[in-house]
Amino acid sequence: MVSKLKLMFFFFHLISIVVLALDLSKLHGNISNNPSDIKAASLDFGNMRYVEALAVMYPNSAHDIVELIKKSYQSEKAFPVSPKGSGHSLYGQAQVADGVVIDMTGTKVSLQERKQPAQGSKGSYVDVWGGDLWVNVLNWTVTYGLAPKSWTNYLYVTVGGTLSNAGVGGQSYIHGPQISNVYELDVVTGKGELKTCSKDENSELFYSVLGGLGQFGIITRARIALEPAPECVVLIHLMYLDFSIFTKDIEYLISLHEKPANERFDSIHSSVLIDQGGVRYVLEVVKYFSKLTEDTVRQEIIETLLKKLDFIPSSTTSSISLTYFDFLDQLRQMELDLRRKGLLDVPHPWITLLVPKSKIGEFDKGIFKGILGSNSNGWIVMKPLLENKWDVRTSVVLPDEDIFYAILMLRSAIDTGEGTKAKLDFIINQNREIIKFCKENELGVKGYMAHHETQEEWIEHYGDKWDLIYKRKIEFDPKHILGTGQHIFQYSS
Ligand code: FAD
Repeated sequence: MVSKLKLMFFFFHLISIVVLALDLSKLHGNISNNPSDIKAASLDFGNMRYVEALAVMYPNSAHDIVELIKKSYQSEKAFPVSPKGSGHSLYGQAQVADGVVIDMTGTKVSLQERKQPAQGSKGSYVDVWGGDLWVNVLNWTVTYGLAPKSWTNYLYVTVGGTLSNAGVGGQSYIHGPQISNVYELDVVTGKGELKTCSKDENSELFYSVLGGLGQFGIITRARIALEPAPECVVLIHLMYLDFSIFTKDIEYLISLHEKPANERFDSIHSSVLIDQGGVRYVLEVVKYFSKLTEDTVRQEIIETLLKKLDFIPSSTTSSISLTYFDFLDQLRQMELDLRRKGLLDVPHPWITLLVPKSKIGEFDKGIFKGILGSNSNGWIVMKPLLENKWDVRTSVVLPDEDIFYAILMLRSAIDTGEGTKAKLDFIINQNREIIKFCKENELGVKGYMAHHETQEEWIEHYGDKWDLIYKRKIEFDPKHILGTGQHIFQYSS
């Protein structure tokens, strides 16, 4: 009896998939169910989760997306839809089972929607397609002598993808994350409405979508704030063995965030190195300059600032000059090297935590020197952030403190003799221990680009913000069509 029921259910499911496929073929926009397109849309950079989509849309405009979502929203049996940027998620967040993935990265639509920079009442800006890559936005705007203000470490990700998380980098302590540097958006909601939104127009939608994990709408256009593009940068690495001196120096440097540019660094970033020799900390400080000002910048600004710091003088790397583009694009070379060696397509069980300043010492002792100890590989990044550079009305959740650190634990399951599966299990177990340690010791940590499997876990993640998130979902995506790969809401047909 049970197996008969199962069989009936299976056929019913199959028929509804075929009906949906036939229905989709009537839509505009480029919809594919070619196996290689489906395969690409069903996996991400994390390389741990394959969730098969039914079809992939390659939109030619925002209107193609409107039509697709309306089709789902208005039909009796809605189907789930997920926007996918460059797919650098780790745990299937941009994937969708038996639904449609919208591949936002099309070159044609990106070129068509990328506009010339313009001057507005708040400053210079550029309008770009939501699926445009940040590297393209940079290359485009520098030809006008301008550039976005806030960056992530890696540029081959999309504008809509990072704005759905936050986008944090070395400049965030001055300018805030990327979501604090957007003037306006066009968004297709889960009801299939295309709306322009900003702080002044449809503001609830604007704040919902920023840091909204793709839950409330699909960003089709973003108006990004620009500043004059620096020509070059000086980049200096400073080494520390003592964690409290290291964080004291970082916190001193970020306290200069409101100072004029000639009294502070332009980017601050740091790494934690863990190996058999113990734990060391590297602070990367960066100063922008033009070719004409290099000597003054080195002698007057950098020298003065470095004198205030307590790094180990003998271990300091010599300062290097790079073009602004090469500085922002540093990870690309590393990526290409890993690809060449066949080490890029491995599982990436990365986690990122936002840790309040008051608990960062405990985090160091318990995790860097404890759980990870000498038993770690990969890259650990620490970015200092200031709460007052974030807008609390967005959908992001932050630790409850003025200063906190984004800790990115970028460890990959590279087989070093034990087998990929064993390595992956080892890192995943360490990740679980890390989360457990933070909970047991009440460190007040929040997940960034968090990954949870159940709504209960998401309710805990959002804390006091959950009611707002729920209200926003009901308002902008009442059938829970969007972003099911995040497992925050179940879609209901
Ligand atoms: P995807 O993985 O494709 O999508 C991410 C989420 O956004 C999904 O939920 C998806 O449904 C949703 N989404 C995608 N496009 C849209 C859209 N147009 N509208 C609405 N929702 C959408 N992050 C930082 O903050 N700082 C860093 O320094 C940093 N460094 C990184 C370095 C590397 C090497 C990598 C791989 C990632 C790094 N990240 C960093 C993380 C990165 O910002 C996120 O993974 C980001 O989501 C990637 O963008 P994507 O285009 O690949 O998004």
